[in-house]
Amino acid sequence: MSQPAAKLNAFPVFMRVEGEAVVIVGGGAEALAKARLLGQSRGRLVIVSEHPEPETAAWIAANGAAHIVAAYDAAQLEGAVLVFAASGDEELDRRISEDARRLGIPVNAVDRPELCDFFTPAIVNRAPVCVAIGSEGAGPVLSQMIRARIDSMLAPSLGHLATLAASFRDAVERLLPKGSARRHFWHEFFEGAPAREMEIGHISEAREAAAELLLRRSAANGHVALVGAGPGAEDLLTLRAQRLLMNADAIVYDALVPEEVVAMGRRDAERLPVGKRKGCHSKSQAEINELLIGLGREGKRVVRLKSGDPLVFGRAGEEMQALRDAGISYEVVPGVTAAFAAAADFELPLTLRGVTSSMVFTTGHDLKGGSLPDWAKLAISGATVAVYMGRSVAADVAGRLIEAGLSPDTAVAVVENASLSSRRKFHGTLADLPSLENRTELTGPVMTIIGDAVAGARFETSQPLAARTRTRVAPATEEALQ
Ligand code: SAH
Repeated sequence: MSQPAAKLNAFPVFMRVEGEAVVIVGGGAEALAKARLLGQSRGRLVIVSEHPEPETAAWIAANGAAHIVAAYDAAQLEGAVLVFAASGDEELDRRISEDARRLGIPVNAVDRPELCDFFTPAIVNRAPVCVAIGSEGAGPVLSQMIRARIDSMLAPSLGHLATLAASFRDAVERLLPKGSARRHFWHEFFEGAPAREMEIGHISEAREAAAELLLRRSAANGHVALVGAGPGAEDLLTLRAQRLLMNADAIVYDALVPEEVVAMGRRDAERLPVGKRKGCHSKSQAEINELLIGLGREGKRVVRLKSGDPLVFGRAGEEMQALRDAGISYEVVPGVTAAFAAAADFELPLTLRGVTSSMVFTTGHDLKGGSLPDWAKLAISGATVAVYMGRSVAADVAGRLIEAGLSPDTAVAVVENASLSSRRKFHGTLADLPSLENRTELTGPVMTIIGDAVAGARFETSQPLAARTRTRVAPATEEALQ
C-alpha cells in the first residue's frame, strides 16, 4: 500500500507576469541567475543595481531589461508583481523583503528562506508548456537533476506542438463529440503525424497533418440525436429539436411524426421514414438500429425523430444500446409526451391535491395472462393512469381494472390526435371504456386517461364515450361523431 503523500509547505502555481514589472535588486551572480530565469517569461524585468558586475550589465544590455542605475530605494518596487532581493548584502535583502511585504508584493530573497514568500522552481521550458520542479529549498541539486531528466524526455518542439494544439481547440470542440472521440484525436495529435512533423521542424506540415487528422476523425464520427417531436402540433417542438433538425444530414422518423415537423429539417437532409405510413413498409427495430449505425458511420448528423418523448414507449432503449455498442455518439432531446398533450386538451390535472399524487404511463398490452400488472395495483390505490396504444385493448383494460376492484364509475378521458386541430375528445367512466374498441372512426392515435383526477377535467367540449354503444343515440350526438 502506498503511503499518504506528505503535505507541501509551498504550493506551486503559475503566476501571470506577462507585461508586468518584476524587480530584481542586485547586480551580482545571484541577481544574474534570477534575471536569466525570469527572462524566460514575458514579465517586464527591472534590475536595480548601481554597480552591476560586467556579466550582469552585458546580460541586461543584450536582453533589453530595464536598468535602474541607482542605490536601492523602496519606491523602485512600487507596481511590481514580484520582487527578488538578490543584492548579496544580508541587511539590504532584509530591508527589500520588508519593503516588498509592506507593499503587498510577494518577495524572494536569495538563500534566505525566512524572508521568502515564494521559492523559484527549476523549470523545463517548452512554452506554453512548463514543468516546474520545487524542493522548498531543500535540494536545489536534486531539483536540477530532475530537471535534466525531464528535459531529455520532452521534445524541444513540444512548445510549438502545444501552441498548434491551442489553435485547433475550437475546431475540435465543434467537430468532435465530447469523450472518447476527442480523447483519441488528441492522443493521435500529440503522438502521431502532427507531433512527428513538428519534431523535425516542419511546422506547416504539422498543421496540415493535424487538419487532416481532424477531418478524418470528424468524418468518422457521426452523431445521432434521439429527438422527441412532441404529440403532433409543430409548435410543441422544443427549440433544441428545431435547431438539430435545421442542421441534420439525415432525418429518420416514425409514422406518428407529422410531415410538418419533418419538413422543418434542413432542405438537403435525407428523409427516411421507418414507420408504416400510407402503404410504406415499416422497418423492424433491428433494421432501424442498423440504419442509424450506418448513417453514423458515414459521419452524418442524424436526427432520429420519435413522436412525443423518445423515452416513452419509443424503443429508444434499444437504439441507444445499439449506438453505444457501435461506438457512435448520441444524445436525447425530450419532447412533450402524448399523455401531457391529452391532459392539456382536456384541462385535466394529472395530479390533484388530496386526490392523486402519482401517475402511471402504461400500455394495456401487458394485460395478457392471469396476473395483474403492477400499474393496475397503482390505479386501484389512486394513481392517474395514461394508457398508450390502448384503443384495441380498451375492453381488456376496463374489465381487468374493474375485476381488480377499481370502481366502474372511475372517470375516463379519451383524446384522439391530442394537440392537433383534428383532435376529438370523449369522456365517460371505466364502464364505458370497452366501447372505444368499436369506434373504428378513430383512425388517429388515441390516449386514454383513467383515474379520479380525471373527474376534475373540463367536459364541456367532449362527447360521451358511451354514446355509440347505447341503443338510442340522440341524432345531434350522432352527427357530431361523423
Ligand atoms: N413516444 C410517444 C408514444 C409512442 S407510442 C409519446 O411519448 O407520446 C404511440 C402511442 O402514443 C399511440 O398509440 C397513442 O396512444 C399515443 N399518442 C401519440 N401521439 C398521440 C396524440 N397526438 N394523441 C393521442 N395519443 C397519442
